[in-house]
Amino acid sequence: MTRVLVVEDTVTSAVHVCQILEEMGLEVKHVPDGEQALLEMNRWQPDIVLLDIMLPGMDGIDVARHIRQAEQGTESWTPIIFLTAKTDGEDLERAIESGGDDYLIKPPVPAALRAKLRAMQRIAQMRGNLLVLKDELDRANQELLQLSAQDGLTGIANRRMFDTKLRDEWQRAIRDGSSVSLVLLDVDHFKHYNDEFGHQAGDECLRQVARVLASAGRRPGDIAARYGGEEFALILPNTAVEGAMVVASAVCDAVRQLGIAHASAATYETVTVSIGVSSMLPVPGDEARWQDLIQQADSCLYTAKQEGRDRVKRFVKHLGDDLNRPL
Ligand code: GH3
Ligand code: MG
Ligand code: MG
Repeated sequence: MTRVLVVEDTVTSAVHVCQILEEMGLEVKHVPDGEQALLEMNRWQPDIVLLDIMLPGMDGIDVARHIRQAEQGTESWTPIIFLTAKTDGEDLERAIESGGDDYLIKPPVPAALRAKLRAMQRIAQMRGNLLVLKDELDRANQELLQLSAQDGLTGIANRRMFDTKLRDEWQRAIRDGSSVSLVLLDVDHFKHYNDEFGHQAGDECLRQVARVLASAGRRPGDIAARYGGEEFALILPNTAVEGAMVVASAVCDAVRQLGIAHASAATYETVTVSIGVSSMLPVPGDEARWQDLIQQADSCLYTAKQEGRDRVKRFVKHLGDDLNRPL
């Protein structure tokens, strides 16, 4: 039921107004001054306020200002209708400026009071509906944002997200003076797998590899992503090469241990991956060089393929000096 707070110090006027409201079937509470009105705003939380302008102590205009101030930063809004004996425009202008939504001249004609209350109820209802819609829109946008960052097949981060995260982590490493590692992996002879078992089985195989990768990064900042096709990546922030090698070797072992039977044309009997790892310690001035990390991991991956697949190769570099030594 709609709650109406009547703030009015003149008893006869209060009785008159309250009676009309009660006859409309509304829940009514009457307070004689501004302090009590603000108290009831919190305690009783009315849906509409009828507010006398002339009140003892804090006047109606101050009460309206307090109400609007308290609402700031929240989504709540309580319609305020001023009751005034005066008809001079200046007073009404101040009343509306202070946060009032409408006014009635005292003593209000019952039909006018009823009409204004109904109109306010309708506005409040429409506003409520809009807030619900806005909530739904916010949720949908959140989901959309999530989806636009996700790879549809495996559910891990997609390439777009990978690029964003790597750039972010690279800048952070420069700021913090920390190293960042990248693990890049490619499924061995995956074309043969697809040819022999079909594309759907291939997709399922990729999902399993993604799961291994996603659970390999143990720290909350680690990011597993699908780099493209049958290539995956793991960004390891604040991680030097020794740590990255431990993770990469664990991934290599774990994929082998999945025991997924490979195509007969493949080198090994079960599905395996080749991995390139690169670790860098970027320094101020290297901001634009985040792709170096990918290039180096990619060239190590190529070496791993060349040397027989199902293995990890690494590369370490301290950017900003001429150290450049594949290991
Ligand atoms: P290598 O060991 O040298 O990496 O050999 P490869 O056969 O894995 O490499 P290649 O790049 O020749 O083949 C990659 C294959 O991955 C070809 C493509 O059909 C398959 N592939 C890429 N994306 C997907 C996908 O989303 N689903 C499936 N099922 N297959 C994919
Ligand atoms: Mg490939
Ligand atoms: Mg491959």
